[in-house]
Amino acid sequence: MKIKAGDTVEVIQGNDRGMRGTVRIALPKKNRVIVEGVNIVIKHQRAIPAGRQQTPGGRIELEAAIDVSNLMLVCPSCQERTRVGYTDMEGGRKIRVCKKCKAQID
Ligand SMILES: [Zn+2]
Repeated sequence: MKIKAGDTVEVIQGNDRGMRGTVRIALPKKNRVIVEGVNIVIKHQRAIPAGRQQTPGGRIELEAAIDVSNLMLVCPSCQERTRVGYTDMEGGRKIRVCKKCKAQID
């Protein structure tokens, strides 16, 4: 996956279009990520009286996972949203580069 935890991304589709945030959790198997402050869903939780540990009811705000196709990486160097390229390093390691300014992202 081209987007990793810790990256800054911009939403390019959906209700939160134009918002930027930091990727908190990457879910490569699902091709989804959870981005700080983006795609908030409100869950209504009923109070569960379970012994001593009472769960209070109320509204809980959660960040829902977003498909990476709705996101673009924001280059930490030029601050533009960009597509990701790869460059081969010595030893066969690949690193990500910004297609706009060619800065290394990893
Ligand atoms: Zn750049």
